[in-house]
Amino acid sequence: MPTYGRLPVSFVKGSGAWLEDEAGERYLDALSGIAVCGLGHSHPAVTAAICEQAGTLLHTSNLYGIPQQQKLADRLCELSGMENVFFSNSGAEANEAAIKLARLYGHNKGIDNPSIIVVKSSFHGRTLATLSATGNRKVQAGFEPLVSGFIRAPYNDLSALEEIATHSKEVVAIMVEPVQGEGGVQIPDSGYLSGIRTLCDQQGWLMILDEIQTGIGRTGQWFGFQHEALQPDVMTLAKGLGNGLPIGACLAQEEAATLFQPGMHGSTFGGNPLVTRTALAVLDTIEKEGLVKRAAELGERIQQGLSTALKENPQLCEIRNHGLMVGIELKHPCASLVADALKQKLLINVTAERVVRLLPPLILSNDEADQIVSQVSQLIERWSEEQPS
Ligand SMILES: *Cc1c(COP(=O)(O)O)cnc(C)c1O
Repeated sequence: MPTYGRLPVSFVKGSGAWLEDEAGERYLDALSGIAVCGLGHSHPAVTAAICEQAGTLLHTSNLYGIPQQQKLADRLCELSGMENVFFSNSGAEANEAAIKLARLYGHNKGIDNPSIIVVKSSFHGRTLATLSATGNRKVQAGFEPLVSGFIRAPYNDLSALEEIATHSKEVVAIMVEPVQGEGGVQIPDSGYLSGIRTLCDQQGWLMILDEIQTGIGRTGQWFGFQHEALQPDVMTLAKGLGNGLPIGACLAQEEAATLFQPGMHGSTFGGNPLVTRTALAVLDTIEKEGLVKRAAELGERIQQGLSTALKENPQLCEIRNHGLMVGIELKHPCASLVADALKQKLLINVTAERVVRLLPPLILSNDEADQIVSQVSQLIERWSEEQPS
């Protein structure tokens, strides 16, 4: 179905930060399949894990024990400080699990119509509940009636949340992204997440973090929340976890960790031996190659390079980065830059109409990072000349 306006290119293979099209032309990948391929393309450790597991056992069922799934859950909990994990096949499904947990938590407290606070310009997925939670009308339009039970607040605004707390008795949770990805690489003030933690503790609400884009090293910590001293009650992951194999996860601690009882939630494919073995290899490789720290260094390098190159550019509003989530906000809609970049054999993205978004793989070399800086800044310079002032 025509769900995507696709670019006129098809890739047939890839290696590291490079993709090759049908004609054998090479492209530098500054998007990683939207924050998925953190280890780049054809990483030997990922390939080996997939091949070995494919030759051993692909799938049994969650009706039986799955040792690879248990190992991955243990490892994720060790890295994140969470206690239990539910495995899904995508980000939206991980968020569905989180939303169901929040509702169950409310019903267990005797709240008949539990509500979850969500924020403006958020993105949580395309299923009915997650598009209802999403703060973007374009994602919702045409799919009404929306799922009820969400209250909308502005992002990066603690007092708006405190205000809701004073009059709403039905709130059971807050769900936010530590950095809004689709929303335009929006980075909240430091203290925002800790403020949410404090409010959730005072009110008895669950703090749910959607780390589907920010997680797995991308921001320069394993998880976005680890830049502040706090622990969420629920966290969702997907994108970078499988480096391209479809896997999502909903992690929980304390009361939220044991709300689901047998029969309350499930997935046929979720957490099968192939995807969980591969995700374990992804985590091991990120650790062994020191890529979490590297993401912070590379992000800094790209941010500084772009700031220097675009210093005098009249179209520039702001360059934002949190590790390797980089957003260049311009004064005018700039979607055409994606096709301009493609002609230069560079893969980038534009989101929220005016924000060039870069999500390169964590295995980038300094030279590749510098090449991205140079190409992107030249593209923006050329584009700027055609803009009204
Ligand atoms: C991509 C994304 C999702 C949806 O994940 P899918 O795997 O596409 O369902 C949800 N939340 C955030 C923050 C995302 O970036």
